[in-house]
Amino acid sequence: MRVRFWGTRGSLPASYTAEAIRTKIFAALKAAGGANLRTDEEIEAFVRRGPATNSLPFSTVGSYGSNTSCLQIEAEGEYLICDAGTGLRDFGNYVLQSAGSGEASKSDTFNIFMSHLHWDHIQGFPFFTPAYIEGNRIHIYGFHKELEQAFVRQQEYPYFPVPLGSLRADIDFTVLEEGREYQVAGFTVKGAKQNHPGESYGYRFEKDGKSIVYSTDSEHKGEAYEADYVFLGFFKDADLLIFDAQYSLLDAITAKENWGHSSNIIAVELSVKSGVKHLCIYHNEPTLDDEKLDRFLDETRKYLRLYSEESPLKIDLAYDGLEIEV
Ligand SMILES: [Zn+2]
Ligand SMILES: [Zn+2]
Repeated sequence: MRVRFWGTRGSLPASYTAEAIRTKIFAALKAAGGANLRTDEEIEAFVRRGPATNSLPFSTVGSYGSNTSCLQIEAEGEYLICDAGTGLRDFGNYVLQSAGSGEASKSDTFNIFMSHLHWDHIQGFPFFTPAYIEGNRIHIYGFHKELEQAFVRQQEYPYFPVPLGSLRADIDFTVLEEGREYQVAGFTVKGAKQNHPGESYGYRFEKDGKSIVYSTDSEHKGEAYEADYVFLGFFKDADLLIFDAQYSLLDAITAKENWGHSSNIIAVELSVKSGVKHLCIYHNEPTLDDEKLDRFLDETRKYLRLYSEESPLKIDLAYDGLEIEV
C-alpha cells in the first residue's frame, strides 16, 4: 500500500517568491564551501548528499510545496483520494500523463473522500481535468449534508465559468452515515466526527491487515487527555496516521485556540498512546517557509524523545510529492 501526497498546505496555498529561491541557492553554495565540483555527476552527488557525509537539509534541496489538501491512497483498478484541494489538479494531470497519448481512451473511476467543505479542501475540483472527460466516473463521499451543494456552488456564476452540471464525467455524491462501515475500492472505510468549525471528519481505511488514518482539520483539546478519548480508538495501531498539526503548542492553546487545528505536541502524544507506527504531520501552516518547517519536524522528533524515549514511532512532515509505503 502506498500513499502519495499531492497537496499538503493548510488553509490556503503557499506561494514561492524569488527571495525564497535565492535563500536556497545561497545555502547550497555556502554548504559547497568552494568545493571544486567540475562534472555534472559531482554536482548531482553534492545536491543529493551534500558536503562529505552531511546531508543538505530538505529546505535547501527540496520544498514542502504549495498545494492545499489532497492525497491518493493506491488502490487496485480505481483511484482513492482524500480531499479536493489544489493538489487535485496535479493528481489529475498525473492520471492523464500516465494514461499516455495515442492509446484508446479508457474510463477511470475516482473515489474522493471529503473531510469537510472548507474552501482549501474543494478548490482544486474545478481544475480536475478528468472531470471534463466523458466516460470517467467520480464518486464524491462526505458526511456534510451540503456536500453536493458546495461543489455546485463553487462553480456557479460569478465564481467560475464552467458549471458543475456541464462537466462530462459522471459525478455523484454520497452523504455517509456516522457509525457505519463502507467498502470502497477494496478498502473498509469508516469516519469519525472531528472538532473543527462547521465540523470535519477523519477516515480510517483498512485493507489486508493494514490501516491508514486520514485526520485533517481537527482540534484536539482537554478531553484528549482522558483515558477513553474516542480518537485513541480511531487511531489505534494505525500503520500510518496523517494528522493535522498546523500549529505549535503555543499557537494551539493561545492565539489560535478554537481555530480547529492541532499542535505537533498533541500529535506525538496521541500517536504514542494509540500505538501508531508512522505519524505524518499534515495541513502545514502556509506562513512557514521551508526552513521553519524543517525545524518544526526536527522539534517534533525531539519532543518524541522527551515524551517517550523508547517509542518506535516514525515521524515525517508531509510535502507535495511525498510517497509513503505502508
Ligand atoms: Zn483545511
Ligand atoms: Zn477546515
